[in-house]
Amino acid sequence: MSSTYEEFKSRADLVRSQIASACARAGRDPREVELLAVTKTHPATAAAHAARYGLRAVGENRVQEGVDKRAQCAAAIAWELIGHLQSNKARLAAAHFDRVQSVDSGKLLNHLDRAAGELGKVLPVLLQINAGQDPAKFGAEPAEAPRLLDLALACKNLRVDGFMTIAPLSDDPAVAERTFANLREIRDRLAAGSGHPLRELSMGMSGDMVAAIAAGSTLVRVGTALFGTREPV
Ligand SMILES: *Cc1c(COP(=O)(O)O)cnc(C)c1O
Repeated sequence: MSSTYEEFKSRADLVRSQIASACARAGRDPREVELLAVTKTHPATAAAHAARYGLRAVGENRVQEGVDKRAQCAAAIAWELIGHLQSNKARLAAAHFDRVQSVDSGKLLNHLDRAAGELGKVLPVLLQINAGQDPAKFGAEPAEAPRLLDLALACKNLRVDGFMTIAPLSDDPAVAERTFANLREIRDRLAAGSGHPLRELSMGMSGDMVAAIAAGSTLVRVGTALFGTREPV
């Protein structure tokens, strides 16, 4: 589905004001919470709209879709991978994305580190934690987070910015609240223990971004509220 820049702008203004009021309620500075536009399933013009609006980055959940769209989009904007990544696509992802948010295993870390080294770049990453312990979600189990972080910090060609999680789908808002609080607690503990700031907490989507901001999110990944509903894939 394609929409005009004016439609995008009015939706983005609304999302921004929702972020601002969530920050006000949480006593936070709205500049601490970035809006990442999730352009998956939408055409390259969606990324162009996000760039024109002044957003830093867009998110894609499939490697090849992101690679193709980036090639079609002349706008200056960063591309972040937010969907599950298989090790055999690590090289392609390292070459075409500015950050990978979905790193959830030691094997994937090794593949990305090697690929980034061969490309002569330092690749920023987030560690994806299944903080809601949802069997339907990817992400390392919370108990594995310390070991995964140690492995990640030992990778010379990766820069660990923080963590990402996706809350389980639930009608009960307390489920998302618990998930976000859990990731925040994991981050605070590991940041204190490692001496690295691990500043980024990528959590919250269209339906649960207010709860995520209350729990300390620094980056909300928003698709539907910016671009409308997606066709089922
Ligand atoms: C699709 C997706 C989003 C955006 O979801 P909306 O509900 O459309 O805002 C956020 N994060 C991830 C990992 C996604 O795959």
